[in-house]
Amino acid sequence: MSNIIDGKHVAKVLRENIKTETAELLEKAGKAPNLTVVIVGENPASQSYVRSKKKFAIEVGFESDTIELPESITEAQLLAQIEKLNADPNVNGILVQLPLPTHINEQTVIRTIAVEKDVDGFHPEQVGGLSIGLDTLEPCTPAGIIELLKYYNIETSGKNAVVIGRSNIVGKPIASMLLKLNATVTITHSRTANLPAVASGADILVVAIGKPHFLTGDMVKDGAVVIDVGINRTKEGKLVGDVDFESASKKASYITPVPGGVGPMTIAMLLANTLKAFKKQSNL
Ligand code: NAD
Repeated sequence: MSNIIDGKHVAKVLRENIKTETAELLEKAGKAPNLTVVIVGENPASQSYVRSKKKFAIEVGFESDTIELPESITEAQLLAQIEKLNADPNVNGILVQLPLPTHINEQTVIRTIAVEKDVDGFHPEQVGGLSIGLDTLEPCTPAGIIELLKYYNIETSGKNAVVIGRSNIVGKPIASMLLKLNATVTITHSRTANLPAVASGADILVVAIGKPHFLTGDMVKDGAVVIDVGINRTKEGKLVGDVDFESASKKASYITPVPGGVGPMTIAMLLANTLKAFKKQSNL
């Protein structure tokens, strides 16, 4: 039976550390970090994510503003809003909640955010920096996975890591991060031939594809570490991951549950990035 990786607990510890450091910095700098979130339209899931981000930001002692813009806003108007935030010295972190309406080009929006305020870590300059090993603001979900591995003292150096899924927000960046930590990394995706054979050679498996119960126990090597990034809602409204927890947990040495594994780490890492951006901008 596996050890359960408790992301809720690790995220809480991280937020407590951020809160303590923020209070100390407030004395030194005379101001708190500011995270500004921009949301376009009324997607209920996005609204709920944005509310959580603000709630946790306030809880650790940050200032947090939400800018709500109508679905009908033009791309030019949104870019002008971002430029305003880029120029505002009181704003340290800018996050534009994705997805955006289809008439707005997400990549153009991401590129417009000032690199030093891009707390989502999606700007091409950050992505490039990560791939050549620079100290950047890293995308929050994969950075959260690395924090979990570190918290549980899980060795990465020399290990075979298999990442399932090649998205820009999880698959590709987690592969870069594991490589930086000296793992031997294989990225697999929907066109990979004989994926179960590749997966079953892994010491560390990261699954981020958005397919409920995709990874079953027969694809997991005895003693492997299994990280489930998937968040899928069943017809009954239950949240399930991309991993079949029941069969995989019989083989894995460590495994993340869904919910309560990777999920809570994402916002905690967003706060960590905002603090990092604030310190850099304030020369602290
Ligand atoms: P995405 O939808 O952008 O991409 C899916 C990837 O999975 C693609 O690279 C595709 O090649 C691969 N894929 C699809 N079907 C496959 C198959 N049968 N075999 C192998 N590969 C396959 O993915 P994403 O945005 O990285 O999201 C993946 C999952 O992670 C989703 O469930 C999403 O909700 C979840 N997610 C969770 C968090 C979090 O905070 N915990 C953050 C981001 C994404």
